[in-house]
Amino acid sequence: MRTVRSIKTMQNISRELAARGKRIGLVPTMGFLHEGHLSLIRRARKYSDVVIVTIFVNPAQFGPHEDLKKYPRDEKGDLKKIKAAGGDIVFIPKATDIYPEDFETFVDVEKLTKVLEGASRPTHFRGVTTIVAKLFNITRPDVVVFGMKDYQQAEVLRRMTKDLGYPIRFIISPTVREKDGLAMSSRNRYFTPEQRPEALCLYFSLRTAREMVRSGVTDCKKIEKEMRAVIKAASPTAEIDYIAFTDFHTLKPVRIIKAQCVCSLAVKVHGVRLIDNLGLNVPEKSARRAD
Ligand code: AMP
Repeated sequence: MRTVRSIKTMQNISRELAARGKRIGLVPTMGFLHEGHLSLIRRARKYSDVVIVTIFVNPAQFGPHEDLKKYPRDEKGDLKKIKAAGGDIVFIPKATDIYPEDFETFVDVEKLTKVLEGASRPTHFRGVTTIVAKLFNITRPDVVVFGMKDYQQAEVLRRMTKDLGYPIRFIISPTVREKDGLAMSSRNRYFTPEQRPEALCLYFSLRTAREMVRSGVTDCKKIEKEMRAVIKAASPTAEIDYIAFTDFHTLKPVRIIKAQCVCSLAVKVHGVRLIDNLGLNVPEKSARRAD
């Protein structure tokens, strides 16, 4: 496995690989890797000859009061994990190389970024799309894998990939959870052992939503009310940023659960902002009946 830090070197390697007809798979990350990230690397492995994993804590996607400075890092541990998961090249650029002082060009997906995470974090997605476009240009992937955990991010990036005409196969991989259901996230390490069980409030509420849908409830207001109660019970001090029911691809809100619909939420638990989501699909026919 090779570690590359220079943009020029990475560009040269990708160009050479492409010239040799190798299929390049790309997995962008911010490091401090867990099993969720590694599942993306394994997935990319299946579709490509060479897997490039990038580690870059992207300043442009953090708001002024977010956790950029304290975002956890463990480069040595990450390299070991990437190797074991089947990564071939790890690209770790410097922030000053990615964003030199005179940098002023951004990629902006206009509409999909205005809701959910984008409503709470207005500059976040502009940072995400800009860095991912740069990583696409530097690594020239044939296949890219993102996680369902950040489902809006994946949809925004899918839109960007299509709109800008990148010839890249786009794969969204399922959320990997801890045994108790908590979605794996680098931010979970911020919790003390006493606080950690409260982080489960997101998963518990999503599970409740799924059970309600399975038992025939399709009114999103009713489901949301129950989810709020579940969150309150599991973590009395949790602050709910949003609970949203949206169409998977358009991210438009739905009032009645239908096929291809996702429930997503953001909750601050002991000062740590967590997000999670779950597909809540019911057959189109019963959705129509409920309408
Ligand atoms: P991050 O390092 O948080 O920017 O995440 C890098 C990639 O890993 C993104 O595509 C995330 O959606 C994905 N990811 C993060 N957590 C998980 C998880 N628990 N399961 C699957 N993918 C994940």
